[in-house]
Amino acid sequence: ESTTSPVTFDNRYARLPKPFFVRMNPTPVASPRLRALNTGLCGELGIDPGALSEDAWAQALAGNAVLPGSEPLAMAYAGHQFGHFVPQLGDGRALLLGEVVDRAGVRRDIQLKGSGPTPFSRMGDGRAALGPVLREYLLSEAMHAMGVSTTRALAMVTTGETVYREEPLPGAVLTRVAQSHIRVGTFQFFAARRDPAAVKSLADHVIERHYPEVRQASSPYLALLESIAGRQAELVARWMLVGFIHGVMNTDNMAVSGETIDYGPCAFMDTYHPGTVFSSIDQRGRYAFANQPEIAQWNLARLAETLLPLIDDDASRAIDQATQVLEAFPSSISTHWLAGMRDKLGLQTKEDSDLELVRELLDIMRKQEADFALTFRYLSDLAAGEEVHTRVRSLFNHAQPFDVWLPCWQARVAREPHGAGERGARMRRVNPGYIPRNHRVEQAIRAAVSEADFGPFEHLLGLVTQPFQDHPGQEAFMQPARPEERVHQTFC
Ligand code: AMP
Ligand code: MG
Ligand code: MG
Repeated sequence: ESTTSPVTFDNRYARLPKPFFVRMNPTPVASPRLRALNTGLCGELGIDPGALSEDAWAQALAGNAVLPGSEPLAMAYAGHQFGHFVPQLGDGRALLLGEVVDRAGVRRDIQLKGSGPTPFSRMGDGRAALGPVLREYLLSEAMHAMGVSTTRALAMVTTGETVYREEPLPGAVLTRVAQSHIRVGTFQFFAARRDPAAVKSLADHVIERHYPEVRQASSPYLALLESIAGRQAELVARWMLVGFIHGVMNTDNMAVSGETIDYGPCAFMDTYHPGTVFSSIDQRGRYAFANQPEIAQWNLARLAETLLPLIDDDASRAIDQATQVLEAFPSSISTHWLAGMRDKLGLQTKEDSDLELVRELLDIMRKQEADFALTFRYLSDLAAGEEVHTRVRSLFNHAQPFDVWLPCWQARVAREPHGAGERGARMRRVNPGYIPRNHRVEQAIRAAVSEADFGPFEHLLGLVTQPFQDHPGQEAFMQPARPEERVHQTFC
């Protein structure tokens, strides 16, 4: 290749056999404008933001120009949507541009989302509205900043075109980066077509790409299942520790890399309640906050089904082995979760009664309708000795049960080897003050959609990508919505 590209592509997925994808170019848009470019992520990927003009980036990241070395393709996949199997989904509005090997040596996908129809679009227009693109940008970057493994947002381009949902809306294209876009549903696609050779090619690709260590195992495909389950356990535990509700945990929205993927109707919980649901399409609460571990396990069972023939020629032996992995999942997730809760409460040592202490707090938070993030953030301040306890108390409708719990926690931390200053500092590094709260995301979307004002988006992005810092003067952004600002539902 003589042409230089600002992105050094090295594409492996495009080398897989034919049924894995359909090659095609993005559909150009009327007047692309670059609205955000994630320079930090560019750095990780070895991309120089200055290599192209702003307009040239807009052209490339809207799909109007195909960068040298890019081999755009739509990936095939299937999936269980709300429990119902759909044998063919696939990238209906996304295209993988190609892969890059990042500065840390990790292979990363670069994908456009909203880049036009594909053979997998079914009835859809292949496009994305600005609001959801902005939401995904904010939430995925916030999750990354909070240490939750996730797909990333590299760029946002507006298209100058209108997309029609319930109403006419400005269109946009998101550039998404992932360790890969391979989903549980990708395995299901080939298993449903009774194509064991393709399932094996896919499994081998995933092993090489994400889990090379399992090649040493006595049963590599069982070890693959175990490793994927391990990363999912850590992932779901971590996102629950920051009050995240994915909203649409269909098997096509579970990445085998262990990254959070598909920021559709997702949201951060304000008031703590395990039954919280925001998604307008989740009418039965299948993906409610506290159901997420069980759903992750259910999704892993669907993955396991596709791997059984690879795990053992003897079907019942394969089932037994896979079942053991699946049965270990709940305790694996609980272990990650309890470890995270200990961190949130400033506990570096372990005592048997810690789980009870955590449960009691959560129970009081639920009954007294306390804000999830602020409770832990204000406890961190209290631990640091910088705050009288009136502020955290004020989060509870009735403070009396909290007043009973507080001395139990204080007695517990008094048995810790470290001092209050260090404890407070540690707690502040895991308990975010600035999360992308629904009403703030909505405000940012409204300004961008109705006035093409991206200031509120940029401002909010600045806060939520430094979620553990203090931002003097910005404390209003820590607060939950006032009643009239409250967002009750989110939409894909
Ligand atoms: P999701 O619920 O976001 O996981 O999407 C489910 C499926 O619908 C995926 O195959 C998407 O690619 C596809 N899809 C979602 N929105 C659109 C759209 N506007 N046009 C075409 N396909 C879409
Ligand atoms: Mg999806
Ligand atoms: Mg989606």
